[in-house]
Amino acid sequence: MTETQKNAPCVGIDLGTTNSLVSVFLNGKPELIPNSHGSVLTPSVIGVLESGEIIVGQAAKELRVTQPDACVSCFKRFMAQDRRFNLRGQEFSPIELSSLVLRSLKEDAANALGMPITEAVITVPAYFNDHARQATRLAGEMAGLTVRRMINEPTAAALVHGFHDRDDEKMITIIDLGGGTFDVTVMEVFESTLEIRSTAGESMLGGEDFTDRIVAHVLQTQNIALEVAEFQFPRRVARLRSECENAKRQLTRSDSASIRLPNEEGEFGGDPKTIHIDRTTYSSLCGPLLRRVSAPIARAMRDTDLAPEDIDDVILVGGATRMPVFQSFVENYFQKPAIARFNPDEIVALGASVQAALIERDAAVDDMIMTDVCPFTLGVEVSKELGGQRKDGYFSPILHRNSTIPISQEEMFYTVAANQPSVTVRVYQGDSRKTAENMLVGQLEVSPLPQGPAGSPLLIRFTYDISGVLEVEAYTPGGKKFRTVLTSHVESLSPQSVEDAKRRIASLKFYPREDQANLQLARFAERMLGELPSWQRQQLDQAIDFYESAMNRSNRDEFHHAKQMLLTCLSSLGISPEDDLA
Ligand code: AMP
Repeated sequence: MTETQKNAPCVGIDLGTTNSLVSVFLNGKPELIPNSHGSVLTPSVIGVLESGEIIVGQAAKELRVTQPDACVSCFKRFMAQDRRFNLRGQEFSPIELSSLVLRSLKEDAANALGMPITEAVITVPAYFNDHARQATRLAGEMAGLTVRRMINEPTAAALVHGFHDRDDEKMITIIDLGGGTFDVTVMEVFESTLEIRSTAGESMLGGEDFTDRIVAHVLQTQNIALEVAEFQFPRRVARLRSECENAKRQLTRSDSASIRLPNEEGEFGGDPKTIHIDRTTYSSLCGPLLRRVSAPIARAMRDTDLAPEDIDDVILVGGATRMPVFQSFVENYFQKPAIARFNPDEIVALGASVQAALIERDAAVDDMIMTDVCPFTLGVEVSKELGGQRKDGYFSPILHRNSTIPISQEEMFYTVAANQPSVTVRVYQGDSRKTAENMLVGQLEVSPLPQGPAGSPLLIRFTYDISGVLEVEAYTPGGKKFRTVLTSHVESLSPQSVEDAKRRIASLKFYPREDQANLQLARFAERMLGELPSWQRQQLDQAIDFYESAMNRSNRDEFHHAKQMLLTCLSSLGISPEDDLA
């Protein structure tokens, strides 16, 4: 064995809104790594137990149904925001929560590969802005990972297609609807080269919004607004959301689905009221969301100057593209069948480890070349002389969206006053003429400026690297250089907050991994209890109590006995944990 073979491989991670996966490139191909429960999908859900211990993944997802206040999901949506989530008195930022998911995947990979894992390629939605990308890198660092590269999710999916079809010559559109984000990417494949031509998307649109449409519809039939219900009856909404998620999946397989209405405590009691929903009703509920889907598709096509008929293959990625209503919408747009050749839940993670193989120059991919683009326009704020008056707040682009990366571009700007002492270079992302409608990504103080008349030049250079991180440089006429990798105004990304967060994460108590499956069974049984009519509850209630007290003692025989009793009790009620937890 050579020295390099002994080193731990760089893994590929899909840090998803709803589920996360880890993969590795082994023996010439990408492979998914199962977690400690044997599943390749780890729900991106974090929970805190009464003991203060942290649980991650399926066990936390189970807990969420009965104790929504102790769990959090979908935090990836808030990755770039100063948001805090309070779980049983412990506060977490989206970065910290993501780092807990990454830590869990890292341990799964280490267990499976039999060596510590220290490096990863992490995928991000193409439309993740600069803050969200920096936040993702930090989450990786907090989990003890060196993030070798961040790649756009649809690019990762494209890499898997390119890896298998590298001899083809075609134009492909990848449509990626995950749990929380939507991305469209147009790619050209020729002679083992994958060239991303354009990408567009929306970071606040995903499968969870489709579930929410059903939740809102059901509550509306009961004359309750979703926002009010979420505030007043969180348990009811948590249980209803889980019912509506099942109904949404059911509508993928059949023409109609039924939804049981939980009571205010989030339980179904004896004979719960049931609401039926058919595909036609569901389609009309989805109308407003589908209209939002069409704008990024049109933009990605416009930016490449291609018409729908120029696209050879339309590829579906992301769990939510399984919805027939979504598939028909896409097929109608492109006037051709959409292809889901690989499991849409898995393809992004597989692509991440193909990227890792490219970085590590694995022989299996040495003929492949891939180029990506910067998905948004980046520029600076300027003032303009309009009708004899100077007005601030205008956007002057430097890097245009869909430029091939890495890229470095420069523009000359000029001072507005004689002997101006300094300039604050405010960097924005967006396409609007006015900066107020774009997003502030950071700023660079250029001070002191050399003395000079109004109109003295200042050269600004933007460099956007292959991970999507922006560096800004400014040069004064004397050649003095001011430089920054953008430090952002987002509090959770400030150096002090990052150090505090790292310390906090290191001090957290985790529920033992080897016991998580047992805990998961308890939470599952508890959830099922809420679904039973009152006359069937007592027996299961007692079996759960017995099981939980055995879990807290260290007598293995007693524990196995209690576990068997609980499983027998569930099975006598016609409930199988395997069906549900699979
Ligand atoms: P991802 O982030 O790619 O894992 O996507 C997860 C999203 O896909 C969630 O919103 C799921 O509800 C949705 N999803 C997964 N399977 C199905 C299905 N069979 N039908 C409808 N939506 C699904």
